[in-house]
Amino acid sequence: MEYTDFTKITGYLSVPRKILITSHTNPDGDAIGASLALYGYLRMKNHQVRIMTPDPYPNFLAWMPWREEIMVFTREKERCLEAIEEAEVIFSVDYNSLERLSGASEAAKASKAVKILIDHHKLPANQFDMMISKVAVSSTAELVYEFIAASGDKDLINKEIAECIYVGITTDTGSYSYSCNHVRTYEIVADLYKKGIDGEHIHRLVYDTYSESRLRLLGYALSQKLVVLPEYHTAYISLTSEELDRFNYEVGDTEGVVNYALSIDGINLAALFSERDNAIRASFRSKGSFKVDALARDHFNGGGHVNASGANSYVSMEETIEKFRALLPLYKEPLSSVY
Ligand code: 5GP
Ligand code: MN
Repeated sequence: MEYTDFTKITGYLSVPRKILITSHTNPDGDAIGASLALYGYLRMKNHQVRIMTPDPYPNFLAWMPWREEIMVFTREKERCLEAIEEAEVIFSVDYNSLERLSGASEAAKASKAVKILIDHHKLPANQFDMMISKVAVSSTAELVYEFIAASGDKDLINKEIAECIYVGITTDTGSYSYSCNHVRTYEIVADLYKKGIDGEHIHRLVYDTYSESRLRLLGYALSQKLVVLPEYHTAYISLTSEELDRFNYEVGDTEGVVNYALSIDGINLAALFSERDNAIRASFRSKGSFKVDALARDHFNGGGHVNASGANSYVSMEETIEKFRALLPLYKEPLSSVY
């Protein structure tokens, strides 16, 4: 099901509004890129705009336009609660249920603000007044572009907004390697280049800014912690908080690690389990037809996309891994016949 309330939203925003833009917990390049692009645009349209994430964004995004404007709920709880309270409109960007606001979820649910969704996940919750929700796109950032274009404001997309959209599209497609078999994505990217972005420079800022310890953590994860189960076309990596501490873990340092496990020939399902804040974060990735959104939803109360999903597990690392391994026989057939 697709929702395209473009004109309704544009109409509602035809007078200045008090807007709060929110994105999901553990924000990634698309959550931040799409939110900041929307922020830059709505500010130009003379709205009063604030922007909030439930927890900190990774360092590789710490160069983006307007990043200083982002309020982080775990760091500035009072200020964020006040912003939620005062908002006339709350935008939900790159997530499909207010639960994904983590600590800020209850306050957002209780808010009387008009709630507008812009997102590319399946099955949006029944919590929104207006929605732009489409799965067959590269990213939420792409939908922000479509929203600006549908509002007749393509000309307002300046270099900064274009950079934000580009980061969203580039990171959510793994640099144009998945969720990107759509001509439209490349038309949009071409337009972003016309706005003056430097794609090569952005790539360096996002991907070539590892700390030494992040790279060593990756090396350790691959050489010491990778478990390959050829019978189930599955590979996984686990990292305890002790191991993460050993490599001076910072937010974002495990981003992308799971993709290496998936890159093995014949591996169709990959998982990364990392221990953080008394929970185990599970990241799932798959090739082709194997649906990790269902795996995350049905067994770990998580969710996501067909080929990239995640969840939190509130039992120990050992129990989480045991549970994951016990599931594999159930999926033996689909795992061996991926198309
Ligand atoms: P990652 O493995 O990068 O943390 O997450 C991959 C994708 O899975 C995210 O883009 C998001 O769509 C989804 N996802 C991750 N964690 C959760 C979760 O706890 N709940 C839900 N519903 N989706 C998640
Ligand atoms: Mn996304």
